Amino acid sequence: MVHGVDQSKAWFERATAATPGGVNSPVRAFNSVGGTPRFMARGEGPYLWDVDGNRYVDLVSSWGPMILGHAHPAVVQAAQTAASSGLSFGTPTTGEVELAEEIIARVDPVQQVRLVNSGTEATMSAIRLARGFTGRGKIIKFAGCYHGHVDALLAQAGSGVATLGLPTSPGVTGAQAADTIVLPYNDIEAVRKSFVDNSGEIAAIITEAAAGNMGAVAPVDGFNAGLLEIAHEHGALLIMDEVMTGFRVSRAGWYGLEAVPGDLYTFGKVMSGGLPAAAFGGRADVMARLAPGGPVYQAGTLSGNPVAVAAGLATLRAADAGVYRALDANSHRLGGLFTEALTKTGVPHHIAYAGNLVSVFFTEQPVHNYDAASSAETWRFPAFFHALLDRGVYGPPSPYEAWFVNAAMDDAAFEIIEAALPAAAEAAAEARQ
Ligand SMILES: *Cc1c(COP(=O)(O)O)cnc(C)c1O
Repeated sequence: MVHGVDQSKAWFERATAATPGGVNSPVRAFNSVGGTPRFMARGEGPYLWDVDGNRYVDLVSSWGPMILGHAHPAVVQAAQTAASSGLSFGTPTTGEVELAEEIIARVDPVQQVRLVNSGTEATMSAIRLARGFTGRGKIIKFAGCYHGHVDALLAQAGSGVATLGLPTSPGVTGAQAADTIVLPYNDIEAVRKSFVDNSGEIAAIITEAAAGNMGAVAPVDGFNAGLLEIAHEHGALLIMDEVMTGFRVSRAGWYGLEAVPGDLYTFGKVMSGGLPAAAFGGRADVMARLAPGGPVYQAGTLSGNPVAVAAGLATLRAADAGVYRALDANSHRLGGLFTEALTKTGVPHHIAYAGNLVSVFFTEQPVHNYDAASSAETWRFPAFFHALLDRGVYGPPSPYEAWFVNAAMDDAAFEIIEAALPAAAEAAAEARQ
């Protein structure tokens, strides 16, 4: 059982004075679940410790990167060794080449890679490149898919097919959103129609290879293959955003599970080892359009940072078949425990998987798109979340996020989860709207 959170409370007060909302990324503020965000002081293996000394089994894993668990010795060692040789040079370094080669070796359709500092930069650059390559302006994205906070990609649109994206954030101009077409996820007919309605104008479709940012929502059979076929039929590119799924759901990410080749890929999270690093890559003829060889400009002072690259490379090198077996097994073990506890209390629920991403939706309907995800009984989630948190299980503080297991989870970690779940299921059952 978690005891006091006085230190976290005090730090959050200081944080809210110094930083808007007290956080550097909104979901960390616990706004959709309430309560005090925990300030973490340390992580090791499957556990985190907060500043009050409470220990948690971590089911967020830094939103994906920490597939090996926290402070993995090989990754820490690689970062320390790199750091002691200098933190940044602004010149080429050998580690960048090795990391690019590792990514290329894992994901067949990726022939060349450019390193950047965040997933947001990766998707922003991939879209610029797709526009530069095709000479077209419009982009299709899907409601409920998140591609970072790129202006043009914040558009989520209201309901309805083929809605032109309205900016969902003040500060995004109509012009920035006007070239974004937002369609319902898993609706291939909507995509077909949109290409007819916008003939010769669409540069690219960007999609999460499997959606993980509205909860885990896998593409229905044939959806990704349909996207590829329609895009190519109309001279557009398919951008597979694998920032979340890449190197987590398999050695080759979602591509390793479904083998539908995108023209461009975006990566982040796991490939960074927990430091700021991300990448985009794909077909050599498309990547050739990038500066300095081509006219599409893209750059970064700290891109390919030697410490970040060393941590990413060490993570990927340690992520062998055994690690992927453990991630798959741990995700299904977690999902099984969710099912067991929620079934016992009679709470309507649907445990969704996209590879080894797992989510809890409080509905009995299968969830294939954002409308379905948001019509679940999301108001049950805060009670479920806090009952787990109080018992030392740190889940994602939002009903629209996947739960991220890591390969360091052992029987002892699962026993903590198993012991916490009956009370959490009870709390979800008793929650009132
Ligand atoms: C996390 C995420 C991003 C954004 O990455 P940042 O590093 O947070 O900018 C983009 N796309 C997907 C699918 C993601 O999950």
